[in-house]
Amino acid sequence: MRIIAATKNKHKIEEIQAIAGEFGMDVVSRADAGVPDIEIEENGDTFEENSEKKAREIMELCGEITIADDSGLMVDALGGAPGVISARFAGEDGNDQKNNEKLLALLTDVAPEDRTARFVSVITMVYPDGRKIVARGECEGHMIYHPKGSNGFGYDPLFVPLGFDRTFAELSGAEKNQISHRAIALQNLRRKLMEAKYEK
Ligand code: IMP
Repeated sequence: MRIIAATKNKHKIEEIQAIAGEFGMDVVSRADAGVPDIEIEENGDTFEENSEKKAREIMELCGEITIADDSGLMVDALGGAPGVISARFAGEDGNDQKNNEKLLALLTDVAPEDRTARFVSVITMVYPDGRKIVARGECEGHMIYHPKGSNGFGYDPLFVPLGFDRTFAELSGAEKNQISHRAIALQNLRRKLMEAKYEK
């Protein structure tokens, strides 16, 4: 089954392709599918809203089955921030490093036991005939005090998943793809597809 991925984030595409490939799904980036390079405004209040908006806008342009991931980090000591604004936490002109610096500054005085957090991914698959499947994945862990590791992207150098003593950025891609929020969301998507027999 060929599926168009709505994201432009090359790290996300690589993860989605690696994980979905194991399920036999052929995920093609929107650039490779020749979809015009539009900006999609992510103005929803939830991962679900943004995920569906991205999937629908790209599906309407390409006319093919499309998936979109909307994801982010929720830190308990910050009331769930940065949440849906994870990508632009340090502002529209920010980047991963500035986002991480802002997050660490806000957590300076937070004790180790209070630094719990989770990554969330909501993947929405939309069909040209209007059907939609929504799948969510979460990965629990905690925030450390200084960045460690150089793999991955985003907040990976600050996040240690539960049961590990290394950050996401210190895990190999294959290790991260076993346990990440995106992996769990894609597994849930696959289960829903099989239950609904939507593959045809
Ligand atoms: P989106 O493109 O609006 O879904 O933004 C996702 C943002 O959440 C990214 O830019 C990162 O800041 C953060 N994020 C999501 N997934 C991950 C991950 O697997 N590792 C690190 N940061 C992530």
